Amino acid sequence: MSRVYAHKHTDIVVQGAVIDLAVGHYPAAECAAAALRALHPGLRIGAILRDRGMLWLDVGYETAVYPDDIYDRVLEIVTDARTLSAWSCAVDGRPGWLVNGAGGPVVLCPVCQTAAGMEVRRHEA
Ligand SMILES: [Zn+2]
Repeated sequence: MSRVYAHKHTDIVVQGAVIDLAVGHYPAAECAAAALRALHPGLRIGAILRDRGMLWLDVGYETAVYPDDIYDRVLEIVTDARTLSAWSCAVDGRPGWLVNGAGGPVVLCPVCQTAAGMEVRRHEA
């Protein structure tokens, strides 16, 4: 899914960027790309990472001069994507909760928690 995302968004994703995107968080990353593209043509995604089970985007600007007037909106877009990922199962994108999985914090829906042999829990991580 990460490779698909990078190929689809070559206009906004920096070449060689680290893209580590959970399948279920793809829609949140799609919304962020669309919002960033609409906000300013100079914005670039430098990385997409899984941070404590949630989506995180590193966003930069193509030149050293970052327009001050869009900074707050960029933070809002990144935060919205992160919040959406906190409620979206990393496996299938269904509504889920941030829980402590075997490999650390992960967002999983009840079905995926059960499939992983876990007792169904809501936000705990
Ligand atoms: Zn799931």
